[in-house]
Amino acid sequence: MCKQTVASGKSVSRRTMLLKSASIAAGAVVLTAPAVGSALAQTKVSHEQAKYQDSPKNGQKCSTCIHFQPPSSCQMVADPISPDGWCQFYGAKTG
Ligand code: SF4
Repeated sequence: MCKQTVASGKSVSRRTMLLKSASIAAGAVVLTAPAVGSALAQTKVSHEQAKYQDSPKNGQKCSTCIHFQPPSSCQMVADPISPDGWCQFYGAKTG
């Protein structure tokens, strides 16, 4: 097995070092995910920026969009929105 000497002078296997690195990386993702969600919630775009309208467009409407949050919110666009509205960030729900 391949052993390496770390700053403490201990001999550590490459496998152990990789596992520790992966744990640290996973922890960083868990710690930052809520912060990212919070940042996104605070940076919703205005109706004007999203080209939002209160009516459907070509059969697309907020209530069938992946960003829609009932009863009248959106992950992307400032509140309030209508379930029958539409904007340029529309993304169809699947399934
Ligand atoms: S169409 Fe636009 S405003 Fe409506 S839910 Fe989707 S992203 Fe939000």
